[in-house]
Amino acid sequence: MELRQIDDYRWEIPQTGAMRVPGIIYADAAMMAALQKEEACRQVANVATLPGIVKASLAMPDIHWGYGFPIGGVAAFDMDEGVISPGGVGYDINCGVRLAVTKLFADEVGPRIADLADALYAGVPCGVGSTGGIRLTVAEEKKAISQGASWAVKRGLGDADDIDRTEDCGHMAEADPEAVSDNALERGRRQLGTLGSGNHFIEVGEVVEVFDPAVAARFGLAEGRITLMLHSGSRGLGHQVCDDYLAVMAKEARKSNIELVDRQLACAPVNASAGRRYFSALACAANFAWINRQVMLHLCREVFMRVFAKGPADLGMRMVYDVCHNIAKKERHEVDGRVRDLCVHRKGATRAFAPGHPDLCAAYRDVGQPVLVPGDMATGSYVLAGCDGAMAETFGSACHGAGRVLSRTAAKKAARGRELFSEMAGRGVALRCQGRTTAAEEMPEAYKDVNSVVEVVHRAGIAKKVAKIRPLAVVKG
Ligand code: 5GP
Ligand code: MN
Ligand code: MN
Repeated sequence: MELRQIDDYRWEIPQTGAMRVPGIIYADAAMMAALQKEEACRQVANVATLPGIVKASLAMPDIHWGYGFPIGGVAAFDMDEGVISPGGVGYDINCGVRLAVTKLFADEVGPRIADLADALYAGVPCGVGSTGGIRLTVAEEKKAISQGASWAVKRGLGDADDIDRTEDCGHMAEADPEAVSDNALERGRRQLGTLGSGNHFIEVGEVVEVFDPAVAARFGLAEGRITLMLHSGSRGLGHQVCDDYLAVMAKEARKSNIELVDRQLACAPVNASAGRRYFSALACAANFAWINRQVMLHLCREVFMRVFAKGPADLGMRMVYDVCHNIAKKERHEVDGRVRDLCVHRKGATRAFAPGHPDLCAAYRDVGQPVLVPGDMATGSYVLAGCDGAMAETFGSACHGAGRVLSRTAAKKAARGRELFSEMAGRGVALRCQGRTTAAEEMPEAYKDVNSVVEVVHRAGIAKKVAKIRPLAVVKG
């Protein structure tokens, strides 16, 4: 495939054939060399063929192959002429990351890290079909997924500040439980407050580097502080919503005469009935995921208080932020000097709104949105802040992680003969997970180097580095 280098961090796939816009990939030369051989580049071009796509089919440096759309992809569609696609959101609707910071310091936590890891592993249900302590009637579940994170807070599982520091206050108003199948409701009913499996994690970390002290202070981050990071999504409910609507969209695309270069791009006009219905169901799943992460934060606070024998004030576990990284949102953006209403798909991409954006909570409005970028279980993770470049170029989006380099199968093969648990312990990380397979699939080498991924978005002016966090304990689903 033809690729044109724009500058050190930007590459263009020129508009050819059925493409309606060009593709733009953010990467450095080394990443690009590796990527060029991959199907993911083709996927960026494929997305560019969809009706109503605006400006460009974008990919962040954590790009890798995904279902239809690449992971690390951002695509915005015109609200009148464009489409919405479940493949552009991903199976785990509103999979996302939540970061909290405590008043504890590393010297206090270090000696107790094994106990803390055990207690978190025991305290938050994990694994594929795991169920939690919250039992709901169908009516209550419908109420919950209509309300989002505030539903949990009303039940005493968090406070108003948690809500304030969650993207969109943990609520998509378009949620309509009638658009969610009984099957999806059933799969979610006992799963609020559960981690899930594989890539999802709970991580205790230590802030090891501060790049922007003023912004870090606003986020509550300072060197040596202990953090808690949660990565999870909408569990069986979101997965089922995606499945249900992929089937619907396959039919809709045919009905609307949308030519699909790949069947996995199944989509429907965003403003017609099927598109709207999927959006209403997606909003329910997004709300479910926010409640899920809110409940888990509550469970983790309890674990920390127990392990360190501290009350809430002394522990001071405060939200930094909660971001979605698998979502479609209706947003207003300026494109070529014109304000337009768009449906922005972020699949393995994070919102990165710049300072001054009206949708940011008051606490961060003048410094920009916290962008949470987990790396891997040993290398570390970053907190960035959204910049003007994101508003100008990427519909206010940045990367969502380091991104996979090895498939799960390849990772398992590469891990053969290695003792990952003791290796991690040797690197100062207490790892807890259900089995050796998960550990192998999730080993650090399965992911790109987060340092170089973050460097790309930082240097491209999309999101700037604020702080780096090193993992001390990781619980994997
Ligand atoms: P995804 O949602 O695409 O599965 O994962 C998001 C990102 O999380 C991955 O791209 C990877 O960089 C990062 N990640 C995966 N496992 C871990 C972990 O155990 N700890 C941290 N900090 N990051 C991880
Ligand atoms: Mn997920
Ligand atoms: Mn995720």
